[in-house]
Amino acid sequence: MTKDYVIGVDLGGTKILTAIADLEGNILAKVRKDTEAKKGKDVVIQRIKDTVYEVIKEIDGDLSEVKGVGLGVPGPLNISEGIIKSTPNLDFDNLNIIEELSDLNLPIFLENDANAAAIGEKWFGAGKGADNMLYITVSTGIGGGIIINKDIYHGVGDGAGEIGHITLIPDSKVQCGCGNYGCWEALASGTALIRMGREAVESDCDTKIAQLVDSPEEIDGAIIAQAFKEGDEVAKELMNQLATYLGIGLASMINVFNPEKIVVGGGVSQSWDLLKDKVSETIDKRAMSSLVEGVEVVTADLGSEVGVIGALAVALTSLDLL
Ligand SMILES: [Zn+2]
Repeated sequence: MTKDYVIGVDLGGTKILTAIADLEGNILAKVRKDTEAKKGKDVVIQRIKDTVYEVIKEIDGDLSEVKGVGLGVPGPLNISEGIIKSTPNLDFDNLNIIEELSDLNLPIFLENDANAAAIGEKWFGAGKGADNMLYITVSTGIGGGIIINKDIYHGVGDGAGEIGHITLIPDSKVQCGCGNYGCWEALASGTALIRMGREAVESDCDTKIAQLVDSPEEIDGAIIAQAFKEGDEVAKELMNQLATYLGIGLASMINVFNPEKIVVGGGVSQSWDLLKDKVSETIDKRAMSSLVEGVEVVTADLGSEVGVIGALAVALTSLDLL
């Protein structure tokens, strides 16, 4: 008896995680390899193919039983052409990835990794059941995916969802990675929290954060969260500042999209308990109350596997199986 499968590939700058699943999305096997990005494009492409062959072998399956491959990649894309325009950690500029993988002889469905994560959370995670949903990942930056009537919204050039780069403070001195000043991402990401923590310690504030590290360079989000839990007032102020900025951005998202759910993922969501009250208070204060009533802000469910589960969901939705 032949069986039908889909494959999801989460291509990152340091690792490739590939999974095979049945058509309900139940993962049957996974293969992980280092990307070895430094060895160049051809090596990375071969490693992607190897994970596909190996994951099929893991379940004693056959290439002919695979209906399609979802591929989540970082960076801007041209989805219909199958082109990766650029990636932060891979030498893949203007690469036609679908052509490169053509000897797999399988339909390949390309998606930006944040969008893939949004699709994964929508079908298999915290967004289940919500047809209009926003996924927001808050870690070193702020990224997201917009789900409208069950489908991801791509925009005309497949670039929609760059929510981290809305300007929050026009005259801010904080420059964002995108070049602009005062972006949401520059003020409310994990990187922003670390910057605020270092500034507090360097300005000789009386704070436990300073006692928890040997030098300001060692400060990270976990250290600041720990100081907050130990009752440190400065850490509490920093977390409240971060939560306020998060809430301001989320309030705008709620006003624009009127979503049923906002799913918050990424490293910062692990400290959500310390942030959520201030975030809710800010949303209540700044978003339109008729829209706030209908939205639920929840943390993501899929953890570190969101990328690969998202890639599987991309394959399943592209094949109209979800
Ligand atoms: Zn920016």
